[in-house]
Amino acid sequence: MKNIAIVGAGLVGSLQALLMAKKGYNVQVLENREDKRKAEFLGGRSINLAMSDRGWRALEMAGVSDKIREFALPMYKRCMHDLEGNLTYQPYGLNNEAIYSVSRGLLNQTLMNEADACDNIEYKFNLKCKDVDLRDNTLVMQNLNKQIETFKFDKMFACDGAFSAVRGRLQRTTGFNYQQSYLGHGYKELEIPGNEDGTYKLESDCLHIWPRSEFMMIALPNIDGSFTLTLFMSLTGKESFEKLDSNEKIRAFFQEKFADAVPLIPNLIEDFNSNPVGSLMTVKCDPWHYNDDILLLGDAAHAIVPFYGQGMNAGFQDCSVFQDMYEARHGNWDGLMKDFSDVHYKNGHAIADLALYNYIEMRDKTADPDFLLRKKIESKFSKMYPDRWLPLYSQVTFSQTPYAEAVENGNRQRAIMDEVMEMENIHNIWDDSQVIDKINHLLDKQKTYA
Ligand SMILES: Cc1cc2nc3c(=O)[nH]c(=O)nc-3n(C[C@H](O)[C@H](O)[C@H](O)COP(=O)(O)OP(=O)(O)OC[C@H]3O[C@@H](n4cnc5c(N)ncnc54)[C@H](O)[C@@H]3O)c2cc1C
Repeated sequence: MKNIAIVGAGLVGSLQALLMAKKGYNVQVLENREDKRKAEFLGGRSINLAMSDRGWRALEMAGVSDKIREFALPMYKRCMHDLEGNLTYQPYGLNNEAIYSVSRGLLNQTLMNEADACDNIEYKFNLKCKDVDLRDNTLVMQNLNKQIETFKFDKMFACDGAFSAVRGRLQRTTGFNYQQSYLGHGYKELEIPGNEDGTYKLESDCLHIWPRSEFMMIALPNIDGSFTLTLFMSLTGKESFEKLDSNEKIRAFFQEKFADAVPLIPNLIEDFNSNPVGSLMTVKCDPWHYNDDILLLGDAAHAIVPFYGQGMNAGFQDCSVFQDMYEARHGNWDGLMKDFSDVHYKNGHAIADLALYNYIEMRDKTADPDFLLRKKIESKFSKMYPDRWLPLYSQVTFSQTPYAEAVENGNRQRAIMDEVMEMENIHNIWDDSQVIDKINHLLDKQKTYA
């Protein structure tokens, strides 16, 4: 039997531990921080994540999806708030599909509890990975007393997040490609508390967006009736976090840009001053494996900006894709990690690019009439010909299609929609059959030249 080490007890590490334990392996999960179940959940801020199909499939594989669904809140549409407080809606799916707002804390806690209940999983906390001895598969960890403890492994999954120490070690091996870039925009979390009776102050089945071109604010519901608000904005420059350096400026900025939200955020000034500005970065690297023994998963392999709501989903999909490959080989590890990396790393790169692009779409295009018309035409066509057209958003969010393939499909669709939007008088004729005929014609033409 192989001994498996997992570095990082975050979302991906705990899920991968569960999946490997179910295959009968002894799994040790080594985590830098103290047990989050003791610290983070007692009175911490509510922070939520959008879960979609890729995440759900992996959770189903691990047998924990029902437990997570108990606290997952469906969001069926985007609700856009303009400067005057007028609302417009855009369904996420074509068939009433939803993305789900899930508490990060509860999700992590549930995964850890499920994993802890397995006899063959052992969690060890307050151990920071400092190095990996690649010659004899040994993790070099530092405990709270600054003493070094070593752990030998047969196989190791590095799930130690965006600033992965294991990846840092692999960067010093020949042939390891690595690229990291900061966005220049950061984020700050605020809160819309629930009403006293536990009801919501905004519609709870939507993801709310205040798109403001160069920046935006979003809100996702929590189970206690509150919403977590996240303001994404440049760190420096004319309209930036840097400029909001006094209570008056903060108040005036919110009053001007998010007037309808202001009465809903009673602790605006306190929260704004006390909550940190988070940074946003993209990490691309390859390969994701070292020999047949070490594999990077989750943010350690692909840290992305959060604008497609896919970081965790992509990490969970790493686990499900690995599991599929493991099962297809009937548990034979020979070449498994290398083949996983060869097949899958391009998908990490693809979702990293898509996520960056979606920032522009969310903060700018969701308020643009041409963009909304495009979406309306696409949606109509897709409903008429579901086998010929699945919008890119649906491919990414409501399917298991590899991200790189989704991007290629999306590029082909964009080329067609660019031509459609050039049709004379498109704003008046968009619902006519000639528009549908044109899309069918262009699809046939693409097929001919494919
Ligand atoms: C503002 C924001 C919003 C987001 N929204 C979404 C969303 O809506 N949907 C979505 O799918 N994704 C979202 N994401 C992305 C998501 O949070 C990450 O992709 C996800 O947390 C990655 O999980 P992970 O387990 O790989 O890494 P992490 O969650 O970062 O866990 C890594 C773990 O490793 C531990 N660790 C780190 N270094 C060491 C070390 N040296 N030794 C030992 N242990 C170590 C850490 O303590 C941590 O427990 C968002 C991210 C941000 C910043």
